[in-house]
Amino acid sequence: MNYIKEQNGQLWLTEDERENLKISYRIKEIIYSERSPFQHVMILDSYDFGRMLVLDGIVQTTSIDGHIYNEMITHVPLSLHPSPKKVLIIGGGDCGAAREVAKYEEVEEIHLVEIDELVVQACKEHLPEVSGNLSDPRVQYVYKDGVQFVKDHMNTYDVIIIDSSDPIGPAQVLFEYDFYESVHKALKEDGMMVCQSQSPIFHMDVLKQTYANIRHLFPHVHVYTATVPTYPGGLWSFTLGAKQPILFERLHTFTKQTKYANADILSQCFRLPQFMKEHLQS
Ligand code: SAM
Repeated sequence: MNYIKEQNGQLWLTEDERENLKISYRIKEIIYSERSPFQHVMILDSYDFGRMLVLDGIVQTTSIDGHIYNEMITHVPLSLHPSPKKVLIIGGGDCGAAREVAKYEEVEEIHLVEIDELVVQACKEHLPEVSGNLSDPRVQYVYKDGVQFVKDHMNTYDVIIIDSSDPIGPAQVLFEYDFYESVHKALKEDGMMVCQSQSPIFHMDVLKQTYANIRHLFPHVHVYTATVPTYPGGLWSFTLGAKQPILFERLHTFTKQTKYANADILSQCFRLPQFMKEHLQS
């Protein structure tokens, strides 16, 4: 499948996984393009978003807005957890989330469980704006399916971050109840998890199902949002599940070096628009 089309001497990537919405990005150069056993992996240099990681033709993260998502999926749980020492990231092959977790000196181990080694290699070598060419010794790369990995690690982690691609292809299993149940068991008694829970505009069904699954397992569940320009509809959701009550005041003292997240953003991101409140309460 060739995801890049030439039109009038110009190269274009068109995301066409949606029936009635096609999003096209004009491409300067194809930096990397390989097929792994799991998916097609590309690093493209685009005019408007700089370099970007594209998996099976879908934009995953870019130099221009990848930090928004990577900061929001990490600094919320890492700031809320009282003493994060062992952190598990499922997916996250662009290394952007691991790069943010590494900013917490109290974290002793970061296990990055990515099914596709090609993604890590490509992003470390060709997408340093996101990966930071991560070389922190606390990061241990495990190249296997996250579903099996969490089953083998009971009562182990303080924070688990599910930084998955969309619920198609290899990531589909990361949106199923059984997986969240294994995540719950892999967390310590004061552990917390967060997952990217898709677009409240286009995927409210996925968000509602994810929220219901996590609520079934965790006593404290909250959804928060951020706007990621290269994700369909921009507005994106994250769902946090915690075994112990959440002390939100911790977010007011956030001081890490970031480009998007700050104490105000982290303290406000749980305030939801009316349509989301109504859907999540229904
Ligand atoms: N930040 C991006 C986003 O929100 O769409 C995605 C981050 S990262 C690119 C998503 C990663 O999840 C991909 O590298 C993909 O290979 C990995 N992945 C998908 N299914 C997986 C599974 N079952 N176990 C582990 N990693 C998986």
